[in-house]
Amino acid sequence: MEQYDSRKLSLESILVHGATPFDPVTGAVSTPVYQSATFRHPGLGQSTGYDYSRVINPTRAELEKTLALAERGTHCLAFSTGMGAISAVIKLFKPGDHLIVSEDLYGGTFRLFNEYYAAYGFSFSWVDTANFAQVEAALKPETAAVFIETPSNPMMKVTDIRRCADLIHSRGGSLIVDNTFLSPYLQTPLDLGADIVVHSGTKYLAGHNDTLAGFIVHAREDREEPLRNIQKSEGATLSPFDAWLVLRGLKTLAVRMNRHEENARRVAHWLRGHPQVEKVFYTGFEDHPQYALSCAQARGHGGMISFYLKDSSAVRPLLQKVSLILFAESLGGVESLITYPLVQTHGAIPESMRLAAGVNDRLMRLSVGIENADDIIGDLENALG
Ligand SMILES: *Cc1c(COP(=O)(O)O)cnc(C)c1O
Repeated sequence: MEQYDSRKLSLESILVHGATPFDPVTGAVSTPVYQSATFRHPGLGQSTGYDYSRVINPTRAELEKTLALAERGTHCLAFSTGMGAISAVIKLFKPGDHLIVSEDLYGGTFRLFNEYYAAYGFSFSWVDTANFAQVEAALKPETAAVFIETPSNPMMKVTDIRRCADLIHSRGGSLIVDNTFLSPYLQTPLDLGADIVVHSGTKYLAGHNDTLAGFIVHAREDREEPLRNIQKSEGATLSPFDAWLVLRGLKTLAVRMNRHEENARRVAHWLRGHPQVEKVFYTGFEDHPQYALSCAQARGHGGMISFYLKDSSAVRPLLQKVSLILFAESLGGVESLITYPLVQTHGAIPESMRLAAGVNDRLMRLSVGIENADDIIGDLENALG
């Protein structure tokens, strides 16, 4: 029973087969769900390699190996949510450290940094990281990391990963990229010089709006031990069944992303021509300010679109009238979801900062699903009136 060398395969094949293509004991094609809290020791001082599932679990370990390969890292750690992963990453740093962060990012990350880590002595500068001069200007002697989302959430601004990596490396710091919006199928930040990738696996990786998960991927041996220690000490690890759901989701990541992207392109162009829509934010438009950068550092534009309505009075009817598209928080699943960032994903961000970033009361965010694009457009047409 030869198991293949997954490092030689292309991403689509790795995603389908995983790091270990079949169970070496039974031949099971689907990784078994090792729903066991603990593991029997063969004897004193002996171990099967597994002892307690908070620390290591075979199903979760297979998922971690698979995602490490997909993100082109060497190590991956799986958490119960994206926030669990992001919180663990920050613990690599110490009080007194300064981090430069994209101002236009997931509201939960803002809350975690601003309400909790700031109180523990970390400091943060919130800047438009798509504007490189602002990143440079925010550097301080104690800057230890740059944390970016690209494309950003929800304004779809694109940050130059390689330039940020070079800048922070010249100061001995690290670049952390939240790669949730594009997934490793469309963007692999470690290839562009990033040190750490984080994910809300709840989104495209799991892909079916049915489970929560979070990941850290990196390629530095000296970081693995500290991160594993944080993970096992805090305990926000991914359950065996949720790990299995994400493994199952990853098998179709490539085909799902292709369809998300195809649908999003059609919906973005259609929205742009609608009389009730003032502006559409989508990195796949040739006149997007960072279109060239987006094409250079990513393999596609993904399934996320934001848009301003002309009039805020159109928000309520739109959210009420959509029927195929669901009015719900989250993104990246097979079902199309519409979000009102002002009150949902970005409710935790203070008004002045929100408005400066462009999140006003006319902004809608659409996660385009994999339904038939005509049905998605028909639903929007009906709801926009
Ligand atoms: C959803 C999300 C998170 C948080 O992930 P959870 O799995 O909900 O904890 C972090 N970053 C981005 C970009 C997200 O969309």
